[in-house]
Amino acid sequence: MREIIKLGCTGCEIPGKSTYFLTKNKKSKSEKLITKKFCKFCKKHVDHKESKV
Ligand SMILES: [Zn+2]
Repeated sequence: MREIIKLGCTGCEIPGKSTYFLTKNKKSKSEKLITKKFCKFCKKHVDHKESKV
């Protein structure tokens, strides 16, 4: 079973300004996912942290 999760930029002043959506396997790790993604607002690669959709 797959679940849609939202990743929000941790570098932006306004949380959730830059967001990515992806699907995660529910059976995989339950801890918060952090992925480095390019943020067009920060203009660099920043950690994007999982948050509730
Ligand atoms: Zn950002």
